[in-house]
Amino acid sequence: MDVDYDASDDVDLGVSEPEEGPVPVESTALLPEKFIYVRHHRNAEKPLPEIIPLESSPEAQVPSHHGTPRHPGDRPFAPFRTFADYKFASRCIKRRMPKHDIDEDLRDMHGGVYSTDSFVTFRNHRDLNRSLVSARLTNVAFETESFVVDFKGKRYNIDVEFRDPWKLMKRWICDESLAAVSTWYSQQKFLCLNGEIDFSNPLYDEPWTGTMWREIDDQLPEKAKYPPCFVGLHIWLDKGLVSTKVKMHPILVRGCWIESATRNGSGNGGGTLAGFVRMPPELREIDPKTLSGSLRSEYDQLKRQIYHAVCRLILSSLQKRSLGGETLKFGDGVLRTAYPGILIESMDFEEIAAWLAIRNSRALHPCPQCLVHKDDLHRLSQVYPARTAVSMKRVLTDAPRGPKTAREEYLREYGLHDFVHFLWEFAHSELYKAVGFDKLHFFDGGEFGRHAWVLLKEYLQNHQLASTFNQWMDQFPRWRNLKHIFGATNISYSEGQTFVDILKCVLPCIVQLVPTNSWLVQWMRALQKIQAMLALEVTTKSRLQYLRELQIEYEACCEKISEKHGKSFNYLKHHFLSHAIENFMGKGTSRNQNTRVGEGFQQEVSEMYQITNGKNAEHQIALIDENEEAMARLDMQVAMWQKSQEDAGDDLIPPPAPQSFVHWSLGAPERRISPISLESKQGNNPLFRNFNMNLRQYLARHHPAYPLRMEQDFEIMPCKALYVNFQSSVNWKSERDILRCNPSFHNEPRYDSVIFNAEDDPLAMAELALVFRCFLPDGVKLGLAMVRPFRRSSWHPKTRTDCPIRERKSGVMFIALEHVVRGVLLCPIFGASREAFYVIDTIDGDMFLRINGIDSIPHNPGRRLSWNNRDYMP
Ligand SMILES: [Zn+2]
Repeated sequence: MDVDYDASDDVDLGVSEPEEGPVPVESTALLPEKFIYVRHHRNAEKPLPEIIPLESSPEAQVPSHHGTPRHPGDRPFAPFRTFADYKFASRCIKRRMPKHDIDEDLRDMHGGVYSTDSFVTFRNHRDLNRSLVSARLTNVAFETESFVVDFKGKRYNIDVEFRDPWKLMKRWICDESLAAVSTWYSQQKFLCLNGEIDFSNPLYDEPWTGTMWREIDDQLPEKAKYPPCFVGLHIWLDKGLVSTKVKMHPILVRGCWIESATRNGSGNGGGTLAGFVRMPPELREIDPKTLSGSLRSEYDQLKRQIYHAVCRLILSSLQKRSLGGETLKFGDGVLRTAYPGILIESMDFEEIAAWLAIRNSRALHPCPQCLVHKDDLHRLSQVYPARTAVSMKRVLTDAPRGPKTAREEYLREYGLHDFVHFLWEFAHSELYKAVGFDKLHFFDGGEFGRHAWVLLKEYLQNHQLASTFNQWMDQFPRWRNLKHIFGATNISYSEGQTFVDILKCVLPCIVQLVPTNSWLVQWMRALQKIQAMLALEVTTKSRLQYLRELQIEYEACCEKISEKHGKSFNYLKHHFLSHAIENFMGKGTSRNQNTRVGEGFQQEVSEMYQITNGKNAEHQIALIDENEEAMARLDMQVAMWQKSQEDAGDDLIPPPAPQSFVHWSLGAPERRISPISLESKQGNNPLFRNFNMNLRQYLARHHPAYPLRMEQDFEIMPCKALYVNFQSSVNWKSERDILRCNPSFHNEPRYDSVIFNAEDDPLAMAELALVFRCFLPDGVKLGLAMVRPFRRSSWHPKTRTDCPIRERKSGVMFIALEHVVRGVLLCPIFGASREAFYVIDTIDGDMFLRINGIDSIPHNPGRRLSWNNRDYMP
């Protein structure tokens, strides 16, 4: 079978340009300079587009809540008898308290230990349980069903405890309090940065901005009595160890129409446990990696059968409705016909193979989304025929019926098992396209953690460079939310985020360590950039185009790594990188499809497991989960009620509008001191030489309105922290850096750096030496910083990359805090012949886009490879 197509040379992403329809006049009237243009799907019956300005102050970007949630009444804590009962129960559930602890507390409470009277009416945990039973009545309860799987003459009894996903979905769809965070129809968003409507740069973030949802909306029946509406489900399935011996396979479901902040959380509208895929006891303790040959394939086959029987049962309520719909009163009060479907599947490859009934990752054609051959997995820029339900059904029909081996052979060419998938009968559920790009397993823990890191680590170890590398990693400057890595080369297995942190730190620690013009350095740099682009929670056509270019660059780099280090890139996680872009365009960005959104739940399952007695643990966990869900909903009702009580009846006076928006604030202040005293206190610190005079000169030049006479005293208040709010280049929302300027922060000196607006350089950088408030006569206060500036450098280390480099300028200077843009992390290039620093531009998405001006690159730049035509490379 020939499935190889030559990739075309251009980097077109296959986005069909939307027809340039007439733009409504009223919307062109007063357009902001930068905005997002939102075009609603026709089914939404909102003919006018929406303009979301991007330049307003961060406060204005908080989404307004349309529609006031229903007043929860006078006893929002019902069915609990008193508020005190509810509060006590809420705490016990949140803390997952064992019943003997609850009884002990209640005994003391009523026995005069704390007081002689209590509003809590429970006498023991049984009273509390009775109220909980009533509270759970409004839950979507777990149901139990059992069936038998026959396999090779053995019968396996399977019990399934599950929540009907349609009941869960209905609850979310009809919940008034979720209406404000729900979007019922697909949208096309366009990023417009030049004050005019421009359809050239589509934007993707939430699932409804992807092309898959729009295609489904287009297929919904027209001229129906009630507007048709697609409600897409997100399915997360993973196995996790809950104790040293016990593995569990929870299934979480989410409503894709709910905004990610709510959907990916654990409160009302967040991911919900739909059940467990429970393997029979005899299968539970088998580690498939220890099986080989026919044993492995039998294990996989049985697992597949169980999976499918369980999943078919759990999802059975959705199948008919996906075809015919069900009319519901949605949370916003409108009657619509809801058509459920599976939009996103977040799983690791082992689970995906079982879920899709395709052959595992070592098969001839292992990819869940296309028919790439296993020997071509390294060819990132090739395109292979896509798997679809239609094409896979056809393969099964066309497979020869004769001898078993011929049929097997035929199916093998498509990576298929002889298996009819139950989702083929679902409407609006493209099961192969729905596979999410799971950055956590595929890239962070896979491409980097399992492959690149392993090779680099072994290289360092084999060349006796590991200890120096570890030392340098240990000296990597601290930064908020960046894990400090000790003994890096001893790490072989860890959670994905640790690998991301290693990757962010790796460049300055290897560039002088490995030979000149090393491909290892280029490889790490390429991985850093790809990681930064994969992680963005908002992306655009032009950002994806840049990612495509990075992939081309990466492919070339991997070829060299294969050549020099004998590394094979024929593995599925590598190949799947080539699907990242279409998955982002199809279903929105990686946060919608990452399994990370369920990792916290694994932790919770594990914690819940600890308080069960281990017997029929899934059932006990289901009960704990139900209690927590009931209490979470009550907590929300009580919070809403309390808020409605606060506002009731009072005329609130709006706060006076501030004269100007100050985006920074100072923290951790010290005692006031005069500049001259500070100078002498700093003794022989060269940075503070002539501090008093220099500060006075700065003030005279930059603040002539407040002249100071030489003999006139004034004071400053040094601070150890600087908070800076800035508008993120990723999503245009407000973000905050907390920067340290502290001789002893957790017993270590820490002087963070900032980007500031200089006259000649909007990306000027400097290290904070002192941040302070300056008290001038007449009550004038200024926020200032004394900084050690950096300059751009043409020097380059042993291997040149496009990671920006800075060197220090001599001396110090003063800047007004108004000019500080945000913090920036620079790291010394260890082992360099001079004091030079890498700007760690991949530390976060904003930094990467900002420093590299990704959004200002024209959309159709053609090939623009940073080191494609290098003459300095070997
Ligand atoms: Zn593929």
